[in-house]
Amino acid sequence: MIIVMNAGASEEDIQHVNDRMQELGFKTWLSRGDVLTIIGAIGDKRLVETESIASMHNVKEIVSIREPFKMASREAHPEDTVIKFANGVSVGGDSEFITMAGPCSIEADPKLLFKIADAVKKAGGQFLRGGAFKPRTSPYDFQGLEEEGLKHMAEARERTGLLIITEVMDSVEAPLVAEYSDVLQVGARNMQNFKLLKAVGKLNKPVMLKRGLSATVREFLLAAEHIMYQGNENVILCERGIRGFDSTFTRNILDLAIVPVLKKLSHLPVVVDPSHATGHRYLIAPMANATVMSGAHGLMVEVHPDPDKALSDGAQSLMLDQYEAMMNNLKKVIAFNKTLTVPECLAKA
Ligand code: PEP
Ligand code: MN
Repeated sequence: MIIVMNAGASEEDIQHVNDRMQELGFKTWLSRGDVLTIIGAIGDKRLVETESIASMHNVKEIVSIREPFKMASREAHPEDTVIKFANGVSVGGDSEFITMAGPCSIEADPKLLFKIADAVKKAGGQFLRGGAFKPRTSPYDFQGLEEEGLKHMAEARERTGLLIITEVMDSVEAPLVAEYSDVLQVGARNMQNFKLLKAVGKLNKPVMLKRGLSATVREFLLAAEHIMYQGNENVILCERGIRGFDSTFTRNILDLAIVPVLKKLSHLPVVVDPSHATGHRYLIAPMANATVMSGAHGLMVEVHPDPDKALSDGAQSLMLDQYEAMMNNLKKVIAFNKTLTVPECLAKA
């Protein structure tokens, strides 16, 4: 349920209601707007007499959250979630558009990763991506360097100051991956691995959750809810393409319309991965431009200096000069996008 406090409610009034809900066994969170503060609460409604809460000092009204996802919903948390990192980078809300770039897999030679990291840094990227635990469709493909790869990533962070994002595939490995990374990535194939979602929900590390291969919007947001329900509210949603009927020319279908949908339904930051969505290098730059225009908070792309020799996803990896050119172009798109305003009649359409 949502408890809306009066505009004049004091901190004491807010705390009083919050404490009471917690006493009743509810999990609560606060969402402070410019005028109103909202207390979100989930728990067993049978244990609370709504009228007694409604009559507490400065409670304006009590409404139920309509969507099945509660903590992730904008209804119960009108302000955008902004995830702040130690180096000053932030993701979500009105923060600067961010990019995450790097190889699909971290490979044995750390120099290769450092070369990519330098290029990512030079072009203005904020995050270095790279998989050490790889979810491969075939058991005969490269499965990842595991902890050795994480060490290479940590060294690349030392050298460049870039933030690190890497995939975690298993709840048992989650604390290890969290030790090395700034953001934990839960991949598309694991979007509904509920044990993993619960495990990363207990860690104090932001999580980027990729949309499952055929996940509906509700399933996607309920997966985020699993993470948040465990206490970790720093979740980034990532659209990475969904299964369509024709993969002849595109690996998946990039569902860009989900960006405004997610922003309407949820307060969580939204990023887009055109690499896994399209599967082809030449499609990345146009879809990156479209990502900015869709209103997303950021982008993830795969980059490799010699994609023909990449151990995974070479065909969809940008070469370093292509990455730099895309980033230069993107800066113009970002600047142009900032000049646009949505007319009131369209915002409501
Ligand atoms: C990846 O980002 O390396 C990856 C495997 O992506 P996805 O889970 O979207 O397939
Ligand atoms: Mn990949």
